[in-house]
Amino acid sequence: MKTEVLKGKKAIDKGAELINRGEIVAFPTETVYGLGANAFNEEAVKKIFQAKGRPSDNPLIVHIADKKDIYKVAENVSAVAQKLIEAFMPGPITIVLPKRKEIGNTVTAGLNTVGVRCPENRVARAFIKKCGVPIAAPSANASTRISPTKAEYVLEDMDGKIPLIIDGGMSKVGIESTVVSVTDDIPIILRPGYVTSKMIAKVTGVCKNFSGEIIKSAPAPGMKYKHYAPVKETVTAVREKLEETYLLNVNKNPVLLVSNKTADIIKKNNPKFNIIKLGKSGIKIASRIFSEMRKAEKIYDFIIIEYFGEEGIYKSISNRTVKSAGGKIIK
Ligand code: AMP
Ligand code: MG
Repeated sequence: MKTEVLKGKKAIDKGAELINRGEIVAFPTETVYGLGANAFNEEAVKKIFQAKGRPSDNPLIVHIADKKDIYKVAENVSAVAQKLIEAFMPGPITIVLPKRKEIGNTVTAGLNTVGVRCPENRVARAFIKKCGVPIAAPSANASTRISPTKAEYVLEDMDGKIPLIIDGGMSKVGIESTVVSVTDDIPIILRPGYVTSKMIAKVTGVCKNFSGEIIKSAPAPGMKYKHYAPVKETVTAVREKLEETYLLNVNKNPVLLVSNKTADIIKKNNPKFNIIKLGKSGIKIASRIFSEMRKAEKIYDFIIIEYFGEEGIYKSISNRTVKSAGGKIIK
């Protein structure tokens, strides 16, 4: 096979035509050159693995021309993912999300997730747009060779193996994209890149870096202070530990701040316990928690607040109560 190297509109038109015929084409991006195929065409995608000599368990990144096209390849774009998309797309970041069924197993190496990237490079986007389909592409080097940042380096590895290289000059960023998984609440950096853990944490509040270390952004103003703390010693405890905590501190003039339901149960077994009822529902408890803490500190000397967990509104309540207990939860 003869490998052509072309520039400009002619290159993009020819490239799109080849892609739509199920062929593979090398194209420039701001990170490194990619070797692309129609991401919806498994037979075409297999040609990438052949040309590169790439092991089939190494997934490809799916490239889109516009960030809104992410919904064509990914399911469940979480709130955290949205933030990253807004902040860094188009650009040198690959976001790993649950895949749509239209993306085949060859692309993702059998994973149920897909890495999606929207390049910033003008030629890359014009090419993908012209193709009219998402483009699955790894770097355009032969497997185990250095990623190519110029058309001539692609030619060194791919001459005779692919029909076309679109020449868009030198890749600006020069290293591969940052790969970040957002299938969880906390983004995890799977491959470091131009977009750093600090930059990501600034947008999402927290992320895990490549070595598993937790990176936090500078806390929001006020977060480092122990707000809302009653003047009396305060702890939080899970439902099962409330009575025990009370009994261990019975000589300190303690009180329990608990949901109505918990109050009824504890009262039955321990009619002498000091108990303040916070309310029936999360909404009620949220509206009363501060006022009841204020009341409690005037009468009692040791405040035990029920820990309500992290679901929905209870997460917001726990954020305040655990903070007033100096971060402690008795479990
Ligand atoms: P390359 O473009 O040659 O750097 O290869 C793409 C790389 O993206 C892979 O080697 C993986 O590190 C990463 N990647 C792509 N898809 C996924 C995915 N679904 N889960 C985790 N990593 C991925
Ligand atoms: Mg590579």
